[in-house]
Amino acid sequence: MTTGPQLIQGELRLEGVPLREIAARFGTPCYVYSRAALTAAYEDYRQALAGRDALICYAVKANANLAILNLFARLGAGFDIVSGGELQRVIAAGGDPAKVVFSGVGKRRDEMRAALEAGIHCFNVESASELDHLNAVAADLDKVAPVSLRVNPNVDPKTHPYISTGLKTAKFGVAFEDALALYRRAASLPHLRVRGIDCHIGSQLLDPAPAAEAAEKILGLVDTLAAAGIAIEHIDLGGGKGIRYQDEAALSAAEYLAPTLQALAGRKEKLLLEPGRSLVGNAGLLLTRVEILKPGSEKSFAVVDAAMNDLMRPALYDAWHDIRPVMPRDGAPRPYEIVGPVCESGDFLGHERALALAEGDLLAVLSAGAYGMAMSSNYNSRPRAAEVMVDGERMHLIRQREDVAQLFAQESMLPR
Ligand SMILES: *Cc1c(COP(=O)(O)O)cnc(C)c1O
Repeated sequence: MTTGPQLIQGELRLEGVPLREIAARFGTPCYVYSRAALTAAYEDYRQALAGRDALICYAVKANANLAILNLFARLGAGFDIVSGGELQRVIAAGGDPAKVVFSGVGKRRDEMRAALEAGIHCFNVESASELDHLNAVAADLDKVAPVSLRVNPNVDPKTHPYISTGLKTAKFGVAFEDALALYRRAASLPHLRVRGIDCHIGSQLLDPAPAAEAAEKILGLVDTLAAAGIAIEHIDLGGGKGIRYQDEAALSAAEYLAPTLQALAGRKEKLLLEPGRSLVGNAGLLLTRVEILKPGSEKSFAVVDAAMNDLMRPALYDAWHDIRPVMPRDGAPRPYEIVGPVCESGDFLGHERALALAEGDLLAVLSAGAYGMAMSSNYNSRPRAAEVMVDGERMHLIRQREDVAQLFAQESMLPR
């Protein structure tokens, strides 16, 4: 699959567009996405699930740009949301609310109301209290809320502790041991209807075994529930499939899901998945320019115009992103610390990258499509980056660069 950036005639291109042209037209820092890569990632899942009753619910939090949501909506995707804001985005992007599942440990009542009025597919409920809140909100609206319980299968996904979510100690979901009692409670509440069951064990998972183990535990619970007279229509196994950032052996959707699908063989329940990172991560990059070179005896720094506020993953998780020159130059590479202008020592994009650089050079920080723009902030009063989508030979501005006036437009001073 050659949907990533490619070095052609001495410069990096995404699809048919030289990144140099994008920087010249829209400036830096700038996120750039490939329509072909987004489509290919979705098709990878679709093919893996061919012939089965399934719904791919894109996890909006990974990248919530309307153009990306719209593209997935047009491909037939559903959506996994975690806030009322994400629901509004999905609707604004032309997504079908009937294909939306609503996850999250702290849904507010107004968010529940909006989702009930929109007619979403299911609420992924994460606590006993939430069942009561949702029942009350639905009663107010004279509606019946479709629910699923997020159950912690208590399997170790073997990933970064910050993105491991299915263990007993996590704030997410309900304990496996409590699930039967909570389903009984859900079934007894007049304004709830039990529809499914869900789990999500973590993110950037490279080993397919924990997902299959989780599926087996969930299926055992589905059978227990059936014996107790509680029918489950769908099984939602969450997201979490990992991607290649460096040298990870990232599997295709078919390979990753094979043991899970084997565990599901012969089951009649509809299958839902909530992939985020694996649909968008490798379809995007962050384009940045070298402002200052600071050679030193201990370390040499390349200060670029993108920073931790634009791409937080290196500072937050010590994540590794490949960093490539857009127009590689001749000359001996030297190890550079690639850092941003933000006033924090943790503000870096890469350590010890062997590069031949001059001031003004463009760099592409790869695999930045997921949890990049979505986690960006205005720290240091830095306007957020522009976003561009390439499609063959064409480039589309899908989000304008913020300007500073927008950053303080909501603020006001005390009267004198
Ligand atoms: C974050 C999240 C996802 C998406 O995870 P990825 O690792 O990006 O695939 C799916 N479901 C839930 C409930 C999540 O919190």
